[in-house]
Amino acid sequence: MANDNKRFQAIISHCKEYGFIFPSSEIYDGLSAVYDYGQWGSELKKNIKDYWWKSMTQLHENIVGIDAAIFMHPTTWKASGHVDGFSDPMIDNKDSKKRYRVDHLIEARIAELENANNMGEAAELQEKMDALLAADDLVGLKQLIEDEDITCGVSGTSNWTDVRQFNLMFSTQLGSVTGEANEIYLRPETAQGIFVNFLNVQKTGRMKIPFGIAQIGKAFRNEIVARQFIFRMREFEQMEMQFFVRPGTEDQWYEQWKNERMQWHLSLGIPGSKYRFHDHVKLAFYAKAACDIEYDFPFGFKEVEGIHSRTNHDLSRHQEYSKKKMQYFDPEINQNYIPYVIETSIGLDRTFLMVMSEAYWEEDLSTADKQDSRVVLKLPPKLAPIKLAVLPLTKKDGLPEIARQIMDANKPHFRCFYEEKDAIGKRYRRMDALGTPFCVTVDHQTKEDNTVTIRYRDSMQQERVPIHSLKGIVDKQIS
Ligand code: ATP
Repeated sequence: MANDNKRFQAIISHCKEYGFIFPSSEIYDGLSAVYDYGQWGSELKKNIKDYWWKSMTQLHENIVGIDAAIFMHPTTWKASGHVDGFSDPMIDNKDSKKRYRVDHLIEARIAELENANNMGEAAELQEKMDALLAADDLVGLKQLIEDEDITCGVSGTSNWTDVRQFNLMFSTQLGSVTGEANEIYLRPETAQGIFVNFLNVQKTGRMKIPFGIAQIGKAFRNEIVARQFIFRMREFEQMEMQFFVRPGTEDQWYEQWKNERMQWHLSLGIPGSKYRFHDHVKLAFYAKAACDIEYDFPFGFKEVEGIHSRTNHDLSRHQEYSKKKMQYFDPEINQNYIPYVIETSIGLDRTFLMVMSEAYWEEDLSTADKQDSRVVLKLPPKLAPIKLAVLPLTKKDGLPEIARQIMDANKPHFRCFYEEKDAIGKRYRRMDALGTPFCVTVDHQTKEDNTVTIRYRDSMQQERVPIHSLKGIVDKQIS
């Protein structure tokens, strides 16, 4: 399915048309790489969040969650290395004035070579780029762009500036007085809120190592090249978990979390063939190991989640900058140490896009005498925004009243949706497009025997069931 641009564009349009995702402040022509989740998108996003949160905290007795503020003391970002090092090498084209991320420019050339089946050259170029990036060799990167004769997609020229580092953090002023002392940042990751609270949680929660702290929250990055819809945004949400372990056990925990996270992905009903691990070649100097879980998006395999073995780097740096001890006393070995950390970090918006990409189907239902088709979102029922649609066949004869009773009986338990407008076939199709796994139709027979027709989204099969069995049928699929 790689590089299926038509399918990707269809998914973007579908998200807009059916109230999943809108461009931010669209009436003013939108804001680049910022999006709003609509009435059904926010439900789907919340369901993904809840599923992650439950699987991390409720199902792991040694993981607790927090909700730290977006604003943090500015020294946090000096200690974490973001002030000095959270940047991407950029280059501008002097004719079009367009700015590019250097790795994206070179990666596009690599993809061109691969598409032309020139695998040897592609691998060689990848290797050269990785080595230059690892050495922060900005002059070498510019030379590589020139040697490869890479041109700007807009102007078509190779009239490039020098390569420069561009910090990705947004800054703003605290209080009313401007000046460097008041400059604070919008957090570029949620992880630091966990590190600075490590001792608070450990002490008040009487946590014993190994244990984890999970968090879901907004992060902000001034991405220069924002593209691919919600894949790369300037304001996005992360779901992160830092797992604190005894030094020396980190390799085993790293493997365990790689495995656990992959199982979580598979539990979304997405086949293993759509995922792959990508080990990082360029490791941060403090990191012991790092890999990404990549999903096969319509534009190819790309990162959804990172798993990182970060040693005790972050806690040590906070100890150094704050002068507060970040140590843990381990009663089992009678020793004080700064714990090592395994981090799992997944983007909520990228997970949304992954779930959407997997669920979106255009089905041809034509028969010998009739052309027909439908768009259906085959979302896992546990993630679907609406679980049950209740549809009276007509607006009269007491059918809406019975349908309302079904709504009242079920809506305290899961999200239900009532609709009486349009022909029943049209209403089914609309529910298919929203990913609703079950529709029930109330008809005249219902008045006689208290049964309804339930229609299953994926198979489109219908059967007659008693009204009182509906909750059980839905519960079984969503629990
Ligand atoms: P990339 O290489 O794609 O820029 P990254 O390696 O910088 O991503 P991390 O810092 O490891 O990303 O962040 C963890 C997760 O947060 C990523 O796996 C991704 O799902 C998500 N994420 C990061 N940046 C963005 C963004 N700009 N928009 C949406 N999600 C993002």
